[in-house]
Amino acid sequence: MTEVCYFEWRVKLPKKPLRDQKYFGNLKKFVIDAGLCSHCTTCTSVCPVYGITGGDKPIDFPNWEKDCIDCGSCIRVCPRWGYEPKNGIGNYVEITAAKSKRFKGQDGGMASEIIASAFELGMIDRAVVVSRDDVWHPVMTQVRTAKQLGDEKIASSKYSFADVMVELRNATYNTRKGVAVTATPCMISGLKKLEDEVASYKQNVKLAISLFCMENFYYHQLSELLANKGIEMKSVGKMHVTDNGLAVEVSEGEAGEYIRVVEINEEEIEEILPSGCRVCQDFVGVESDVSVGSEGSPEGFSTIIVRSEVAKKIMDHIREKDYAEFAEVDVDAIEKRCENKIQKRPYRRG
Ligand SMILES: Cc1cc2nc3c(=O)[nH]c(=O)nc-3n(C[C@H](O)[C@H](O)[C@H](O)COP(=O)(O)OP(=O)(O)OC[C@H]3O[C@@H](n4cnc5c(N)ncnc54)[C@H](O)[C@@H]3O)c2cc1C
Repeated sequence: MTEVCYFEWRVKLPKKPLRDQKYFGNLKKFVIDAGLCSHCTTCTSVCPVYGITGGDKPIDFPNWEKDCIDCGSCIRVCPRWGYEPKNGIGNYVEITAAKSKRFKGQDGGMASEIIASAFELGMIDRAVVVSRDDVWHPVMTQVRTAKQLGDEKIASSKYSFADVMVELRNATYNTRKGVAVTATPCMISGLKKLEDEVASYKQNVKLAISLFCMENFYYHQLSELLANKGIEMKSVGKMHVTDNGLAVEVSEGEAGEYIRVVEINEEEIEEILPSGCRVCQDFVGVESDVSVGSEGSPEGFSTIIVRSEVAKKIMDHIREKDYAEFAEVDVDAIEKRCENKIQKRPYRRG
């Protein structure tokens, strides 16, 4: 078979269990229909005919029987094909808690600070980040300067799937110096598969930042759940995870001067939990260059797990320039949360 594909793949195509069906048919049966797909959109980003859809719906390829060119790209990069869950805190060179003196973020603003410092060090010329509109739809964005990271719509955590990998593909086409990206652990696993297999990703993606993640949601389901509690997305100021679920800060009053906190408990989360999150055990994104979250840090600080040389260099720069305030981190709390995710999300290969 002639391989029609944009990328120069380094590895052979995996064998198809269903030989009489195209590769997407196999992905559909053994990953999507089996409830394993994490919606990381790595397949969407590499499909040469742009047939695989992401967005706010389960991954699909309408008319795949006709339009799929059977190149196998989707299966090559799918982190849930032959799925072996990653878990634990992973290898690291440093764990710390820090608060940026330059960026006001979801927690300590350190995800923004790390990207800004990567710009300053000349490691990257763009970063793929997730911004939002007024009603919290995730909006994929490429920032080209550190200053752009000051936008509060970029800083906040959006608890909805975003097509990060698609934007990352576009960024890798255009970069000269390199790209940084913020992503959830499943996307980091997709990226690692891509980096192992496609040279241009390994060359161009200089910094992969994983956000800690217990779960993510489809926007339409999260907004419906909030609507049922009388909350309009446009009045949401911030959402953040708690020990018992999700806390949503809602602005009230004529000028939005009062803040009411609405708790979404674990049972409510279970009702809209996407199937792919039910089998995910990776809380921190063990394959990233650096993981950033709030677990383990004092209020208003970010926890940072530094894994790669590049990330270490950036953290050294942040210290040298006195760009952040540092605090003690509770590693046991992070490990406990990692363990908690394994317990909550058991997976046995069928
Ligand atoms: C879906 C999700 C679940 C999370 N669950 C947990 C958790 O259980 N425990 C925990 O400790 N922390 C969790 N976090 C991480 C936490 O909310 C903060 O993102 C993290 O602490 C970094 O804060 P900061 O102030 O350093 O980041 P900031 O400097 O404010 O930067 C935030 C960055 O997050 C990126 N971002 C926002 N939404 C998304 C998204 N949907 N996909 C990819 N990138 C995004 C933006 O691009 C931005 O650069 C989660 C984040 C997300 C998006």
